[in-house]
Amino acid sequence: MKEPFIIAEKDLQEMAKRVIDTLAEHTSQKAKILFLEGDLGAGKTTFTKELAEALGITKDDVHSPTFILKKEYKAAHPFFEKLIHIDAYRFDDPQEANVLKLDRDAENEKALVVIEWPSKLGGGIDEDMTISFSVIDDTTREVVVNYVNG
Ligand code: ADP
Ligand code: MG
Repeated sequence: MKEPFIIAEKDLQEMAKRVIDTLAEHTSQKAKILFLEGDLGAGKTTFTKELAEALGITKDDVHSPTFILKKEYKAAHPFFEKLIHIDAYRFDDPQEANVLKLDRDAENEKALVVIEWPSKLGGGIDEDMTISFSVIDDTTREVVVNYVNG
């Protein structure tokens, strides 16, 4: 998954399954951290909904957490027990990121932490994978996946 590829919305579900499988394969003592990059409307939240579905969470329950910053869902998956969805878009000062208590989440090896706008958190988070979305046209996106352990 290293080369950029073009994806339609209907293919996101398959991609989400592959991403979950890839992240679940490599066991570590820490949570898995997935960065989602791309402009507003690029597809970060849409993809997070598909990740949720792949983890047995009702995807309609997942909304952009822009105003609540962080939301947790109980997963039904052999490896992941929890999905934590963060949207850092509204952070101006990386210091504010303390309120997210990410250090504590990072200790839960059964958690998948998905972060939209990770650059707003000012670094210092060790991500396992970064997926970048760019708009090609109304229905298609270019996707680049960078898996740190891959
Ligand atoms: P972001 O969270 O990056 O700001 P959203 O996921 O909220 O973006 O919005 C992406 C929009 O683009 C949604 O309305 C979605 O239906 C649409 N879309 C169309 N094609 C795709 C695609 N191939 N991948 C992701 N989203 C797509
Ligand atoms: Mg979003």
